[in-house]
Amino acid sequence: MSEKELTHESTNNSDIKSSFRSGFVAIVGAPNVGKSTMLNQFLGEKVAIITPKPQTTRTQIRGILTRDNFQIVFVDTPGIHSSKKALNKALVEWAEYALKDVDVIVFVIDASRREKAYEEQTLKLLKEANRPVICVLNKVDKISKPELLPMIDELKEKYPFKAIIPVAAKYGDGLDIVLSEIVKLLPEGPKYYDETTTTDQSPEQIASEIIREKVFMLAGKEVPYSTAVDVEEFYYDEERRLLTIRAIIYVERPSQKGIMIGKQGRFLKQIGKMAREELEAIFGKRIYLDLWVKVLKDWSKDERAIKRLGLSVR
Ligand code: GDP
Ligand code: MG
Repeated sequence: MSEKELTHESTNNSDIKSSFRSGFVAIVGAPNVGKSTMLNQFLGEKVAIITPKPQTTRTQIRGILTRDNFQIVFVDTPGIHSSKKALNKALVEWAEYALKDVDVIVFVIDASRREKAYEEQTLKLLKEANRPVICVLNKVDKISKPELLPMIDELKEKYPFKAIIPVAAKYGDGLDIVLSEIVKLLPEGPKYYDETTTTDQSPEQIASEIIREKVFMLAGKEVPYSTAVDVEEFYYDEERRLLTIRAIIYVERPSQKGIMIGKQGRFLKQIGKMAREELEAIFGKRIYLDLWVKVLKDWSKDERAIKRLGLSVR
């Protein structure tokens, strides 16, 4: 090996400035606290939707920020819903599982409208996940300084945050500090994705992927790999400003169909609601999502059925 190659391979501490840092970062927080606003500020207009890699299927990649010395892969973890429904348990478990996988967690709080119960619940999850957490206190433009300082003290008491950063995401205030704090916590690592990586999926494929993800999230082991989603209809009505997506969830056995639909259709409704919300965010349009469940006996063993559905089994 030549000397040049050797130097290139070595990464010692004296070399730290030229080392590349990278990792996966989850942004969590209640609805409307400003998570999307912050992410859009980081990433600009473009929303990258990436074909999930096998090792990242627990999470959906929301965007990738690449600079000379770092790459942050922002991922979505399932919302931590404070509803008391039975499904909540599965969701919380899922969130916990996904959070353990990231390098840094950014917990966003709306400083002008605190939701203490939600905060408590989330902090418990964060403790379980045991990853470094940065607390972002957003919308500080809506509160006064004398209100802010005790809030920071209170949060400091509650959790060993790596940093507590007041920001106004909408106006870009404080976000450079959030970025530099994230980078500080990232490990040295490779550039996971090419800067130019964007999605090569069609909108229909994205829709089916998201629906399938929700099925897996909620159904878990009860409906093992025998689920496929086929988007049959996908059209945008300009006049009504409504995107209609009709999709069929294929299962292999009638018993699986029962599980998928749930008592009084509740399970399917939950899948539909979660998928619709996420797809509305991705496509930036109001969506009517029409979900159906059909039994296609042993389709996963049938090459022709797989081809016809344009599916791949994972
Ligand atoms: P998400 O549900 O957490 O993704 O929240 P969004 O990013 O969709 O933001 C919810 C609302 O809060 C939107 O109307 C934003 O414009 C608003 N918002 C976000 N950040 C700020 C901020 O720093 N100050 C103020 N005043 N409003 C903000
Ligand atoms: Mg959002």
